[in-house]
Amino acid sequence: MELISGKEIQELTFREIREEVQSLKDKGIEACLAVIIVGNDPASRVYVNNKKKACETVGIKSLEYALPEETTTEELLDLIEKLNSDEAVNGILCQLPVPKHINKLAVIESISPEKDVDCFHPVNVGKLSLGRAQLVPCTPAGVIRMLDVAGVEIEGKRAVVIGRSDIVGKPMGIMLMERNATVTVCHSKTKDLSSITKQADILVATVGKQKLVTADMVKEGAVVIDVGINRNGEGKLCGDVDFENVAPHCSKITPVPGGVGPMTITMLMKNTVTATKIQNNIK
Ligand code: NAP
Repeated sequence: MELISGKEIQELTFREIREEVQSLKDKGIEACLAVIIVGNDPASRVYVNNKKKACETVGIKSLEYALPEETTTEELLDLIEKLNSDEAVNGILCQLPVPKHINKLAVIESISPEKDVDCFHPVNVGKLSLGRAQLVPCTPAGVIRMLDVAGVEIEGKRAVVIGRSDIVGKPMGIMLMERNATVTVCHSKTKDLSSITKQADILVATVGKQKLVTADMVKEGAVVIDVGINRNGEGKLCGDVDFENVAPHCSKITPVPGGVGPMTITMLMKNTVTATKIQNNIK
């Protein structure tokens, strides 16, 4: 069994991104990401700080807009409109969740698709399903990157994704299909889940339930990717996979923490560079 380390693949990918950012700087272009945070959610604050830190690491300029809890949808949309038309800003993201009184869909749809580095805008989701994506959803793109760096062949393989959320499960299924895997996407209404997961050469769990994937659900020699982030009874971070018992049956597996987690932010940096290149007509 081999561990696929998100931290190592992050370092490798950051090195490549840093070079791309530098070569843009050599052309007089400074990649810039604007991050909006509304309210005082502590988890959101941690995520935003991590994104700013990642920008620093790869040399991307970051701008933070911290807005008070009582900000209205209109005020937020005004700010996004300003950032949409600011040529010095290449990527825009609004940290979710936003406070309940804000119209989340309106916010997502107001970000210019060209600057939508989270890839949540319906135009970018549509392009992904048409096989014409330029910006890609960060977590599933991170999983694909991990599979590639770990030397896992995707083409022709049976892939099973557990979970069908708009930000992870669905795009994960599309991206694996795009890479010529034969894909099944499972969810809470799936009957006899283990009979399906047992067929998987590549199994991706993105549910949010600890120990959902047990050893009897995994084919011998499978590659298992654990996207889940949960806290166990002792308050420790864990994924959706019963790691201790599943790992001995896998050819490769990702740990939690230190697996998919670091890759999401990595692909956000990659998307920011891609957006900068597109906006400057650089191939
Ligand atoms: P979500 O929106 O809550 O979706 C969970 C999915 O799991 C749903 O499609 C649900 O089915 C399905 N599900 C629930 N119980 C199930 C069961 N018993 N059997 C099979 N499927 C079941 O969650 P998400 O946003 O995709 O996130 C999933 C997990 O990944 C969470 O732990 C989250 O924290 C983590 N996550 C990690 C990263 C990262 O960077 N590593 C990024 C994003 C999310 P229905 O559709 O039928 O309800």
